[in-house]
Amino acid sequence: MHRNLIGGEWCEPADAIRNINPSDTRETVGLYARGDAADAQRAVEAARAAFPAWADSSPQLRHDILARAAQELLARKEELGRLLSSEEGKTLPEGIGEVARAANVLAFMAGEALRIRGDRLPGLQPGSDAEVTREPLGVVGVIAPWNFPIAIPAWKIAPALAYGNTVVFKPAELVPASAWALVDILHRAGLPDGVLNLVMGSGSQIGGVLCSHPQVDAISFTGSVPTGRRIAADCVGGPRMKRMQLEMGGKNPLIVLDDADLDVAVECAVQGAFFSTGQRCTASSRFIVTDGIHDRFVRAVVQRLEAVSVGHALRADTHIGPVVDRKQLDTDLSYIDIGKQEGARLAWGGEVLERDTPGFYLQPALFVDVGPSMRIAREEIFGPVASVTRARDFDEALHIANDTEFGLAAGICTTSLRHASRFKRQAQAGIVKVNQATSGLDYHLPFGGSKASSYGPREQGQYAVDFYTVVKTAYTSA
Ligand code: NAD
Repeated sequence: MHRNLIGGEWCEPADAIRNINPSDTRETVGLYARGDAADAQRAVEAARAAFPAWADSSPQLRHDILARAAQELLARKEELGRLLSSEEGKTLPEGIGEVARAANVLAFMAGEALRIRGDRLPGLQPGSDAEVTREPLGVVGVIAPWNFPIAIPAWKIAPALAYGNTVVFKPAELVPASAWALVDILHRAGLPDGVLNLVMGSGSQIGGVLCSHPQVDAISFTGSVPTGRRIAADCVGGPRMKRMQLEMGGKNPLIVLDDADLDVAVECAVQGAFFSTGQRCTASSRFIVTDGIHDRFVRAVVQRLEAVSVGHALRADTHIGPVVDRKQLDTDLSYIDIGKQEGARLAWGGEVLERDTPGFYLQPALFVDVGPSMRIAREEIFGPVASVTRARDFDEALHIANDTEFGLAAGICTTSLRHASRFKRQAQAGIVKVNQATSGLDYHLPFGGSKASSYGPREQGQYAVDFYTVVKTAYTSA
């Protein structure tokens, strides 16, 4: 049994959860604690008690702990990648790549702990001057989704710790194994008791305590828009409003113009929409394609999909693993039905596949003749289901791309510098890509969206400092 970490102790829980391998539902990956509201309460108290000393700790100490944890993650990336792929269903190279990314994030943030920021400025009154410094926020609640079970927690927890905050971490229920491994490594790397606490369990129960607790100063959340809205209400509804960073869903467009390099466009489309089983917030689930290249593009994407194999996440010949669980598979299938009822045509896939292990295998689905107002073109599905919508020209394609409540990522495939630069300026999204898949992002660059996809300061890289610190302005008269 893998237990929760509260105040430096691995605590016996009242209950436990089994996580199931989506590639083979007969297999239990492990047995994990299922904490309750009392555990969350104790974890907040432990994080609060540990805060003053950690906030005052030397940057060198914080650097060394994060750097040690990064080294262990990297050294164990094959083993942990296998564990991650077993509980989430992404392929082994994707799982190993995610663990390596988490290690790189920890190493980057170890460096950030040593980057001491501050300004000294003259005041406006004679003899007055001012220092502008950054201080830690306090206790941060980290609430994570299941689709990047080690990278997302790493890119929230590492800056929180680097800048002197203490943390209560609540992972998604489906993926406790990756979360537990990350916390275990950070704990053994030398974090003082109470600086990082782990409470696995239900979202509404554990997450609910974190979002409404007066001793939690900030919430960093990644997940769906409806959960984000509930969290926002809890964070502002209590006696003290909390700082919030909410990274939510997307319905990300990829525009393909007549002048695009067809091979590049097909690779961007297939990688962006279907790899990681389409379960990425930055997946390009809407292809908006101009008339002159439309038929060639659809033919080439279908041809590319014919060569893609869906199967057990740990098999070497698998390109796309299973869907994460039964509920998500049912969601994907219901949208495939909705697409057919709306009059779109399925050009490829959409069938549940039988393999030699019982898992949630779905053939990637490509819809064509999709109108921009159809539900499959507007609502986040979060599975390997993509739609192709025709556009007359760049202007119409841009209008369709921006006509959405979401604003996470947007891409274009074109060889025209003029269209590429107009797109970079006018696409309504936090992340814009030219001739690249919308998914696949660098860890030193800011990450986040606009519109309903995002609320609060950016994640990742040097920009994370804006969320995890409070700016103080101190005036002195001589
Ligand atoms: P989800 O919203 O169901 O859950 C996310 C987390 O919130 C989980 O840990 C869950 O237990 C917790 N939670 C649920 N109810 C809660 C409540 N009332 N109070 C506090 N916490 C609560 O999302 P999911 O299904 O785990 O992940 C898929 C979603 O995440 C998709 O919409 C996807 O687009 C989004 N996502 C966004 C990004 C991004 O950076 N923008 C990245 C990855 C995933």
